[in-house]
Amino acid sequence: MEATKAQVTGTLVGEISRIPGGERIRLCIQCGTCSASCPNANRMDHTPRKLIAMARAGMREEVLSSNSMWLCASCYLCTVRCPREIKITDIMHALECLSVRENVSSARTLTPTMYRSFSDFVYSIGSVPEPSFMILFYLLTNPLRAMRMIPMAFSLLTHGRMSIKARRLKPEAERQFKAILDKAEELGGI
Ligand code: SF4
Ligand code: SF4
Repeated sequence: MEATKAQVTGTLVGEISRIPGGERIRLCIQCGTCSASCPNANRMDHTPRKLIAMARAGMREEVLSSNSMWLCASCYLCTVRCPREIKITDIMHALECLSVRENVSSARTLTPTMYRSFSDFVYSIGSVPEPSFMILFYLLTNPLRAMRMIPMAFSLLTHGRMSIKARRLKPEAERQFKAILDKAEELGGI
């Protein structure tokens, strides 16, 4: 009999509990403090409290294809206020990784493309020149939006808030940065 994805990879809550920061997910008492603290909860498909309940209920696909984790602003309010010391922010980032790894990311988020464009630039030229980075990002996602952003880009350039010249990392810094990205990839990151 063919094994299901959940049998191959384990339950979602089991996977989360094995990642650093996710160990205490089963201790959630569903108090809702995280959702009440979250500045982006009203834009999420499922609030942080509900996302944890769904993960524990085995709703893998619904959790991983939602937009919730992609709207996490890493403000850590939920994490510092959780009465059970659950690291919800870390869980949000772990869900991003699982979502990309299983190729079920919400079509409404462009963040995975931005992450990938960023690491591709660092790998290929050892820096992230802002104008080229943004041009590539918009070409990959929404070329028409790139046209609309031209006035803002021009304003940023003329006010010195963005530089055409790429600021290269020093060789040792570049080596270390690539090592971090390699390790992230090895651990299942984007
Ligand atoms: S604040 Fe902590 S215990 Fe309360 S619902 Fe959120 S994760 Fe669960
Ligand atoms: S860290 Fe993320 S999930 Fe937690 S309150 Fe901030 S935005 Fe919401």
